[in-house]
Amino acid sequence: LQNSSLAPASYTLAGSYGFCYGVKKAVHKAYELAEALQTGQKCYMYGAVIHNKQVVNNLTANGFILVDKADAVAPGATVLIRAHGITGEELGRLRDKNCKVIDETCGYVRFIQNKIAKYHNAGYQIILAGHRGHPEIVSEISFAENNVIVVDSLAELKTLNLANLPTVLLAQTTFNHQEFTKISNFLTLHLEQLLIFDTICRATVDRQLATKELASTKDVMIVIGDRSSSNTKRLVDLSAEVCGETYLIESAADMAELKFKGVLAAKQVGVAASASAPDSIITEVIRIMNENTEVTKNQEALEETAKNQNAVDKQAAETGNDV
Ligand code: SF4
Repeated sequence: LQNSSLAPASYTLAGSYGFCYGVKKAVHKAYELAEALQTGQKCYMYGAVIHNKQVVNNLTANGFILVDKADAVAPGATVLIRAHGITGEELGRLRDKNCKVIDETCGYVRFIQNKIAKYHNAGYQIILAGHRGHPEIVSEISFAENNVIVVDSLAELKTLNLANLPTVLLAQTTFNHQEFTKISNFLTLHLEQLLIFDTICRATVDRQLATKELASTKDVMIVIGDRSSSNTKRLVDLSAEVCGETYLIESAADMAELKFKGVLAAKQVGVAASASAPDSIITEVIRIMNENTEVTKNQEALEETAKNQNAVDKQAAETGNDV
């Protein structure tokens, strides 16, 4: 096949895509610290600053030391805390070691940590819709000494024998919005005293809605993001519900391979990107798509969408007030 015959008929980007404000801020701070490393200063990254291998590999190549526990950090060192946050105990250990803690925990995650601590102290039963073992969940439930019921679906919730106690329901920031609504509705019917905090972050909701809307009109969907990223997996699942041909792309090389196989040939293609997908990868994927392809959105419109999206994300991610 010639290259031109491998090209899609057209492609369209989702109305909301790519790095959210919380991720941008954390990555920006990480690169700022990486520059300081050239003076010989030691710097640790507690957990992957965001769930993207290329970003993390680049930072470790620039001198960051990636650790997953406070014990591995030298006393007095500078430590960057990931956007997903860490447990209260680990934060305490770093402070005991006189570390300089640069806390890039996203405002949305901090909001959940604070609510969990507050309602745990007030004696509430706490239910968190999310994925057990995910770093964000590990961090959040630590603020209630791990006394939190974590469920990842309505089906799982139905298997539990819940006590009819005053209860608080919250969600992991990247949780599937439709599933959270089902869980909320079920609990509303079964518990007498229930407080619901929809803590799914705006950036996540916007990307989920935009991806599903676009996927329902396309032959093929490309979702750009990292396999380890929770919000990437959600986008892939949502897209696959309405577009049978949905592909997860981690790099430009994946995209080139997909195109070479002829998967995109003469198709109407939609492109979505998760909140942890860097602009550099999105741009490369678009470049490959662009070869011999009609563009259905002009660059100006894309830049305008990104600008509006950032303004909305900014305040919420800094304060957590908007959740
Ligand atoms: Fe971004 Fe939302 Fe995660 Fe914050 S919680 S880092 S805004 S995806």
